[in-house]
Amino acid sequence: MSSPLLADLADIVGAEHVLTDPDVTQSFGTDWTRAWSSTPLAVIRPASTAEVAAVLRLCHANGTPVVTQGGNTGLVGGGVPHGDRTSVVVSMTRLNSVAAVDRATQTVEVGAGVTLSQLQAHASSAGFRYAVDLAARDSATVGGMVATNAGGLRVVGLGDTRAQVMGVEAVLADGTIIRRLEPLAKDNGGYNLSQLMTGSEGTLGVITAARLRLVRQPAEPEVVTLIGLPDVESAVDLVASARQRGDLTAAEMIRAEGMAVVRAVCGLTQPLANEHPVYLLLETATLPDLPNDVDAAVDPRMWEYRDRQAEAVATLGIPFKLDVCLPITAIPEFLKEMDQLPDTQGREVHVYAHLGDGNLHINLVDIDEPTSERLDEQVLTLVAQFGGSIAAEHGVGVHKTKWLHLSRSSAEIATMKAIKNTLDPTGILNPGVLLP
Ligand SMILES: Cc1cc2nc3c(=O)[nH]c(=O)nc-3n(C[C@H](O)[C@H](O)[C@H](O)COP(=O)(O)OP(=O)(O)OC[C@H]3O[C@@H](n4cnc5c(N)ncnc54)[C@H](O)[C@@H]3O)c2cc1C
Repeated sequence: MSSPLLADLADIVGAEHVLTDPDVTQSFGTDWTRAWSSTPLAVIRPASTAEVAAVLRLCHANGTPVVTQGGNTGLVGGGVPHGDRTSVVVSMTRLNSVAAVDRATQTVEVGAGVTLSQLQAHASSAGFRYAVDLAARDSATVGGMVATNAGGLRVVGLGDTRAQVMGVEAVLADGTIIRRLEPLAKDNGGYNLSQLMTGSEGTLGVITAARLRLVRQPAEPEVVTLIGLPDVESAVDLVASARQRGDLTAAEMIRAEGMAVVRAVCGLTQPLANEHPVYLLLETATLPDLPNDVDAAVDPRMWEYRDRQAEAVATLGIPFKLDVCLPITAIPEFLKEMDQLPDTQGREVHVYAHLGDGNLHINLVDIDEPTSERLDEQVLTLVAQFGGSIAAEHGVGVHKTKWLHLSRSSAEIATMKAIKNTLDPTGILNPGVLLP
């Protein structure tokens, strides 16, 4: 080990779990989109809550910035360092314990490093389901999903991560452990610190474990219907009628350009008889009510066209991404105005959406820095004018700190800063993330 700090870290986690070779650490320093990249000082791989606490105590004493990382599938630059050799990355993937499902409370306690796929398989083997699902399921971890309050494909029917969190265990910046993992349906003993950690993007503490609610497996597999439509208005109308029936679990939208790119990149066939400007995927308990003569296919494999949108767009170049939420009925007008913005004109704008939640993923490819700055300004200001949120489900990260004021009042931001300063007074946890 080349410095006293690294030697002390090796004493805590074992020398083989302090990675310093830039060839190895580079992937931990580069985010999924490749838009942010720095070389970490080291990557530390603790295996227990006690080791996380000792690592944080040491970094706190030394004033060393700590970036917590799960599966590194975040899309706003929150899980990688900014600046070469300035921060240690604490990788959480070795905290992968999975307890037996507690059938009486329909909950399970899992380590922060457990992947979503592992959690889903574990729940399913006990006859339950974990409600949150997203395309990065093989890498995204429980800690990352709680830290970002991940949404995903079934929020419209089953809620976001926050709705599944019964409690968390977390380590604060100075190494203090706070633990609330008991399976208690009611627990009003003061502030809900587990929910404070949820969505805090690694800025308030390192989540080491969570107790998560499970839902029952459906008696029959859901019906998945892909529908070709002339415009976004028709998609919004169909979502409204599907919601009214009360059995909707997912409502996802793809536009024509997204369908073309996913078919080309992933080698998929044309899913419907004809091509359409807009495609809506509905997941329902029974067949949805559809207009006569609509071009539609009922087949669970239709999920692939939506699931692989991010992967397909990323092959076109480094994507500039915006993840925003709008009142769903405002979306058709918002998209028309967005297409008229100076910096979107003449460019291919890939939009896919968790339409049931009013959540749009806006992607433009290979945008230079001044353009991305202007796009943030133009698109996010428009989102605010439509009464939307500039950060729907991916979080604020480093990407959107500058624009937080568009979605939060100065009083709210000042309160968030006060909480941050209390829990992390020297600011070692994820510096530059979330708060301006
Ligand atoms: C193909 C693809 C599809 C996606 N689809 C969706 C989607 O539908 N819905 C959605 O919400 N997101 C989606 N995402 C984004 C991403 O998967 C989620 O944000 C996910 O929750 C990140 O988990 P992670 O373990 O990869 O976290 P990371 O990327 O490692 O970290 C994300 C943030 O959480 C913090 N963090 C990570 N672990 C911890 C911890 N244990 N304690 C404290 N802080 C921590 C990091 O510091 C960082 O700020 C998608 C990403 C990809 C690549």
